[in-house]
Amino acid sequence: MLDLSVRDVKYLPGVGPARAELLSKELGIKSLADLIHYYPYKYIDRSRLFQIKEVNGTMPYIQLKGRILSFEEIGAGRGKRLVAHFTDGTSVADLVWFQGIKFALSKYRPNTEYVVFGKPTIYGGRVNIAHPEIDIDANINLSEMGMQPHYNTTEKMKKSGLNSAAIRKLINNLLELIVEPLPETLPNWLINRENLMSLTDALTVIHSPKTADSLRQAQHRLKFEELFYVQLNICRYSAARNKRFKGLMFSKVGNSFNRFYSECLPFALTEAQKRVVREIRRDTCSGVQMNRLLQGDVGSGKTMVALMSMLLAIDNGFQACIMAPTEILAEQHFANISRYLNSIGLNVELLTGSIKGKRREAILNGLVGGNVNILVATHAVLEDTVMFARLGLVVIDEQHRFGVAQRAKLWSKNSNPPHVLVMTATPIPRTLAMTLYGDLDVSIIDELPPGRKPIKTVHKFDNTHVDIYAFLDEELKKGRQVYVVYPLIEESEKIDLKNLEDGYKIICDRFQGYDVSKVHGKMKPAEKDAEMQRFKRGETRIMVSTTVIEVGVDVPNASVMVIENAERFGLSQLHQLRGRVGRGADQSFCILVTGYKLSEDTRKRIDIMVDSNDGFEIAEADLKLRGPGDIEGTQQSGIAFDLKLANLARDGMLIEQVRNIAKEIIAKDADLVQPENQLLARELRRLKKSPFDWSSIS
Ligand code: ADP
Ligand code: MG
Repeated sequence: MLDLSVRDVKYLPGVGPARAELLSKELGIKSLADLIHYYPYKYIDRSRLFQIKEVNGTMPYIQLKGRILSFEEIGAGRGKRLVAHFTDGTSVADLVWFQGIKFALSKYRPNTEYVVFGKPTIYGGRVNIAHPEIDIDANINLSEMGMQPHYNTTEKMKKSGLNSAAIRKLINNLLELIVEPLPETLPNWLINRENLMSLTDALTVIHSPKTADSLRQAQHRLKFEELFYVQLNICRYSAARNKRFKGLMFSKVGNSFNRFYSECLPFALTEAQKRVVREIRRDTCSGVQMNRLLQGDVGSGKTMVALMSMLLAIDNGFQACIMAPTEILAEQHFANISRYLNSIGLNVELLTGSIKGKRREAILNGLVGGNVNILVATHAVLEDTVMFARLGLVVIDEQHRFGVAQRAKLWSKNSNPPHVLVMTATPIPRTLAMTLYGDLDVSIIDELPPGRKPIKTVHKFDNTHVDIYAFLDEELKKGRQVYVVYPLIEESEKIDLKNLEDGYKIICDRFQGYDVSKVHGKMKPAEKDAEMQRFKRGETRIMVSTTVIEVGVDVPNASVMVIENAERFGLSQLHQLRGRVGRGADQSFCILVTGYKLSEDTRKRIDIMVDSNDGFEIAEADLKLRGPGDIEGTQQSGIAFDLKLANLARDGMLIEQVRNIAKEIIAKDADLVQPENQLLARELRRLKKSPFDWSSIS
């Protein structure tokens, strides 16, 4: 059988060494298999003809049938162009060439019938098509033309004539080589049961669909396969892991938990918090290692859930660790947890990069000796020198800041992996979570503690600062605190920092009675933390900063978040920033400041922010607007890039479906050793050899 993966694209008719190198360099296409899996990014229906008189300038592409009346060469030098006056009897259109004039003149004749295809514009009251595609044989069967595929190419490729049409030709040459079916990549029983197209048909149709319906079926088959193997890999991996490791048993609810619950809990838990604690409790006494993702909007009270889970670990003779992405967050957790546990008599320690020398040594000894019950830490805990006596539970706060590799590192801190609870306030739509985080179970806190007033969000243009500042004045007079946030990205770092400095000066001038803090990522961590602490203690009333304050910092007295250049922030970032306010009982506000000119996408983002306080709604909208490749976390896993056709935002139903199928298969045959599953095992092995690291999502 023809194995496309071992056939160099160089030997395909129409390629040769030069083009082969371009294909490899520009698109990573080396083998015939790579080429056949290079799918079109769009299709244009070429089965339909337009009449010139019905054409307007907003149509994307049109196809006309008619004849050239005459040629006209206009202008000279660089502005020179060739115009062919073309008619179909309903009106006249101009076909225009700026390059290849000689070629066009030699190839096309007046009074011969052609089918002409291209993008129309209206110029001088006439339909113009620049550099049209022309079919010499006007009798081509249009219904046979079907949907014409278009391929992405790069500037370099276009320069060398490797444009979309050229790729199309190459792929046609390739399809001609396929005279018998390619080896199937899905088992027959599955193809039959799920009513899928065969691989060969799907690949043929996706490159040359005759009808929209068959195209859909082909796409479905190929998407199905992409998503199915991701899920199969995840399910198999987690089954293997559960077999290898016995989950640590937190079989009882003991003294610490009970005393804390009855004596120290400063408020009643929300129903959602209770539910999640129950879920964690169930997981940790199931005999299987827990891998749970806890999603809850900013301010929903995840820390308390983490704390109670840690108490469960302690009651069963284990240690627990909570890891935060920044020192300031770790310190905040440490302060809160120590305060909550004040009367319980547990040993809580803090480990960050700035804790050194004797102090550090003492903590490390306490961990190995088992005297430390709870460790609050930054990524300093990942170092090999940090060892535990009996680590039973690891909580990772604000997961999107940590890579998968770091998660794995934490596992190795105990001979039997500890239970893992990952917490994030960046809500991830379920389907994305299922794919990104593999076999993580998901818990959701979908309820804020009582008494919170929803944050009021408004959109203001940047010429209304006078009003904005007047409003800040009122809030400051009430004793509140204010954030003013500026964007800072690496590419425009200098300008951004200047904007921040300018903004800081303006604020200092305008609000002379108040102390103002300034924080940005270029400051030394210690300086930054000191400044944050000053703001937290209320010594400064206004905080001018970049997004470094994004995560987790809790200043209940802050009631206004002003986001300058809001058009430059993504939705989830805006939502995170907004979550810095609204933590106290006062009415809080978020002011999104933008310029007048807004792109349509920006408009939508701002509108969503103004309309919704719901992190999940916002995350869904974000996924739809940007596509999953840009969502935080997806970059780390790389998964979004490996999916060629499937779209994590749109294919939620399909993901559910293939996940269930994968589960069903693994439940019956965890090691894929049954004859009917041989092909699946082989495909998984093959995919694991591909450049994408599959284990990174497991
Ligand atoms: P996040 O989920 O963003 O990490 P936190 O755990 O920091 O939220 O909680 C935000 C604030 O809400 C904290 O001040 C915390 O003490 C408070 N809080 C948490 N749970 C409750 C509750 N059930 N009732 C009242 N306040 C709560
Ligand atoms: Mg938090």
